[in-house]
Amino acid sequence: MKISDILKQKEITISCEIFPPKLGTELEQSRRIVSEMAALKPDFISVTYGAAGSTAGFTAELAEAVESCGIASLAHVTCVSSDRESLTDYLASLKENGIENVLALRGDMPQGREPKRVYPHASDLAAEIKSMGDFCVGGACYPEGHPEATSVSADIDALKIKAESGCEFFTTQMFFDNDIMYSFMTKFQRKGINIPVIAGIMPITNARQLQRSASLSGTTVPRRLREIVERFGDKPSAMRQAGIAFATEQIIDLIANGVNNIHIYAMNKPDVAAEILDNISEIRGI
Ligand code: FAD
Repeated sequence: MKISDILKQKEITISCEIFPPKLGTELEQSRRIVSEMAALKPDFISVTYGAAGSTAGFTAELAEAVESCGIASLAHVTCVSSDRESLTDYLASLKENGIENVLALRGDMPQGREPKRVYPHASDLAAEIKSMGDFCVGGACYPEGHPEATSVSADIDALKIKAESGCEFFTTQMFFDNDIMYSFMTKFQRKGINIPVIAGIMPITNARQLQRSASLSGTTVPRRLREIVERFGDKPSAMRQAGIAFATEQIIDLIANGVNNIHIYAMNKPDVAAEILDNISEIRGI
């Protein structure tokens, strides 16, 4: 099913993300993660795309595994590893396996090797995907602005181009401070962009994960979360419980404020996604 239709039909949606294994590893463990995640009945499951494109086959295979569990899948793809030929092949394999949704991304610039430059921006990739088949295409957005953008406002101008190029929804970069998201949404709507925005929430269940993901993405870490990690970071079960509670609170506040589409960056941990979904089971059904 197309994600654009799911977003139209349901008031509140909860989706999850998984990532494929490294090249040279078996898919068996990832398939197990897919079926455990699918058993939670999220509205869709996204499958990320390795930066160099070398695991594109895994992304397509896992997206197909998601579909065969009866859940809509969203297969990611990046500009920096795509040219016309590889994109045509990738989209053909998605189509063959009943995958209707693609997240068009630029990808991070690779270190020590030249990126492919056929599609300079995600907007160019989105337009090409739309011209190549009947896919529902989404894109990424950044409540704090993309690190390369000169300002949040300039970044939102680029989002407008992305929407005009065929993106039907955006998923946000993770954020830990909902006020940043609300401020972004106000600016986004003022620019007259009328496509749904799905809020990306990453449950922080260990201290290293926060250091790694926040420093990579430049996401602001509010005092409340920093203190949780300082207090519980070296106590794994306590940190896990506190991280799930923090993410749950963020989601409840977002839905209470009308941000009804939530994407959980579940980091291949179905048990963590399960606890969050359990915590919001009544809210999800309203
Ligand atoms: P773009 O939309 O191309 O934007 C990149 C920069 O260019 C921004 O500063 C923007 O303001 C500017 N820009 C955009 N369009 C234009 C234009 N037309 N003219 C001028 N300037 C423009 N990476 C992976 O490798 N694999 C993944 O699976 C993956 N999944 C992701 C999922 C989500 C939800 C998010 C938020 C990110 C994901 N990423 C992934 C990371 C992403 O590839 C990087 O953040 C990358 O640096 C930017 O990608 P983008 O699609 O936002 O790029």
